[in-house]
Amino acid sequence: MAILGASSALLVIEPSAPPLPWQSAILTAIRPVTGRVKSYRFQVAFDRPVLAGQHVDVRLTAPDGYQAHRSYSIASAPSQDGIIELMIEGLPEGEVSGFFETVAEVGDTIELRGPIGGAFVWRPEDGGPLLLVGGGSGVVPLLAMLRHRAAAAPEVPALLLYSVRDAAEAIAAEELAVRARDEPHFALMLTLTRAGGRRVDAGMIGEALQRLGQPGHIYICGGNAFVGRTADLLVDAGVDPRLIRTERFGS
Ligand SMILES: Cc1cc2nc3c(=O)[nH]c(=O)nc-3n(C[C@H](O)[C@H](O)[C@H](O)COP(=O)(O)OP(=O)(O)OC[C@H]3O[C@@H](n4cnc5c(N)ncnc54)[C@H](O)[C@@H]3O)c2cc1C
Repeated sequence: MAILGASSALLVIEPSAPPLPWQSAILTAIRPVTGRVKSYRFQVAFDRPVLAGQHVDVRLTAPDGYQAHRSYSIASAPSQDGIIELMIEGLPEGEVSGFFETVAEVGDTIELRGPIGGAFVWRPEDGGPLLLVGGGSGVVPLLAMLRHRAAAAPEVPALLLYSVRDAAEAIAAEELAVRARDEPHFALMLTLTRAGGRRVDAGMIGEALQRLGQPGHIYICGGNAFVGRTADLLVDAGVDPRLIRTERFGS
């Protein structure tokens, strides 16, 4: 039950939306993206359209009934074809990502539910300018936004500040470079944190804001520490905190 509105005179209580049902999705393609990340395409039958930035929950069930479920952002732009793309980083000892890394095969049926998420989404009518800040695999939902923007609203200015350990680990590096070259209103700032590189810092945030102009929407996604630090830097730079939306992938 959700409390929608309350005053001293009236308390309105409405039932919460039921959780989305689990459904069987067919794994139709697997492709390497980086040394640690693979792309997985699924044929799904969602009962509602996907919005850029949303995720799905994936559930695995062992023969003894043990279940594990994790969330994965949708990398593909919203489309009508019933195909979604996930990009999953195989973590050492990772229960679910490890399954995808070493066991999953094209043709498998995997349980998932979605699309999920109402706050960390961008629609073309939301406009911009869009400041997207991603750390590691946190770039995945931002990629969906960039793909959607390119198809539906290429005039919306956008800048992606992408922090990754080294160039080999940059997800969709070639696609992003081509977009930065070919899309007049899109700019890419890539920062490599290993081998003497820089983490996202105040100088980088200042440069991003200068290049983009006053952002209309800001989306930050990555690990907890990355998201918190980046949001703080933006607020310190004078950005209105109400413009900032965050998605945290965990530790
Ligand atoms: C909204 C949302 C969207 C997300 N989108 C993506 C995405 O697009 N792509 C993506 O790759 N991830 C994404 N994630 C993260 C994802 O949900 C998982 O958290 C991630 O894949 C790790 O799950 P796992 O089961 O593989 O690892 P887990 O088994 O949960 O383990 C996590 C880490 O802990 C370590 N670990 C596990 N057990 C132990 C132990 N006993 N001792 C020490 N260390 C241990 C593992 O080695 C691993 O590094 C998203 C998360 C959220 C919340």
